[in-house]
Amino acid sequence: MNKRLIIFSALLLQFLLAQSQTKIIDMHIHSYTESDFGGRKPATDHYGNKGAVNAAAHLSATFAAFKKFNIVKAVVSGNPESVENWAANDNGHIVIKGILMFAPGDYGIDSIKFEQMIKDKKIEVFGEVAPYYSGTTLSDSAWQPYLRICEKYDIPVGVHTGGGDPGGTYFWSPKARLRLSDPYLIEDVLVRYPKLRIYLMHAGGEDWPEHAIRMMAYYPQLYIDLAVMLWVEPNTQRYIKGLLKNIKEAGYLNRVMFGSDQMIWPDAIERSIRFLNSLPFLTKKDKEDILYNNAVRFLKLKK
Ligand SMILES: [Zn+2]
Repeated sequence: MNKRLIIFSALLLQFLLAQSQTKIIDMHIHSYTESDFGGRKPATDHYGNKGAVNAAAHLSATFAAFKKFNIVKAVVSGNPESVENWAANDNGHIVIKGILMFAPGDYGIDSIKFEQMIKDKKIEVFGEVAPYYSGTTLSDSAWQPYLRICEKYDIPVGVHTGGGDPGGTYFWSPKARLRLSDPYLIEDVLVRYPKLRIYLMHAGGEDWPEHAIRMMAYYPQLYIDLAVMLWVEPNTQRYIKGLLKNIKEAGYLNRVMFGSDQMIWPDAIERSIRFLNSLPFLTKKDKEDILYNNAVRFLKLKK
């Protein structure tokens, strides 16, 4: 082959590989500002992998992963400043703006300001909402004004379910209690706002996977994401395998969405995708649905 033909063939191969790579929507990405990192040394994950050293490195490593794995949309949550910064750096129109909230009124955002932010397109998904960490549940009265607004503007809600970081209650979230992370505790929300689009982040964690599945059975509009369960520890992977097998048998796989929940470890995106793709009981179609098609439907995106 002459040189030109070799170059042409290489380019064609690259093009075909890019075409065949499944498009991915990541329903669970975290953003930070430098103030979130502070002067601390990067924490290590369960396997000893160091996190990003600062917010700028974290942003660029996460965007590099978006490109590498054909992640075409990502629900990004963090403090409002970090989300705006990510959107400003997003040349590929990937970022869907979320917001990380632990307690009603975080960042001084009351329901009036919240509604304005939705009108201004500064919040496109209400999540990650994590009442567990503030000792509340989404059914509590203080969350209701936010949820009413989400239903009114058809803004999807992503709610944290399952516990948090082991030992966290002792050092940063003193009001967190495992029982508050039970998916059953959002049942009143589903009853009050039947039109609300909502997904259970982490699918009930290791704590309540069966409760997540039963909620999906009773409320056919309810979706879940897999999130941190896909990579953070061998134990969470064990649970998520069981959950996916059971959901497949139950027939609700079309409401399961991929999310990496990378936090400060951008390489967790790759680890999550690889783990999901390694599960032998899921077909190629099942995986494509989880990685992309189900989220397209949930988010009402054009394919
Ligand atoms: Zn998260």
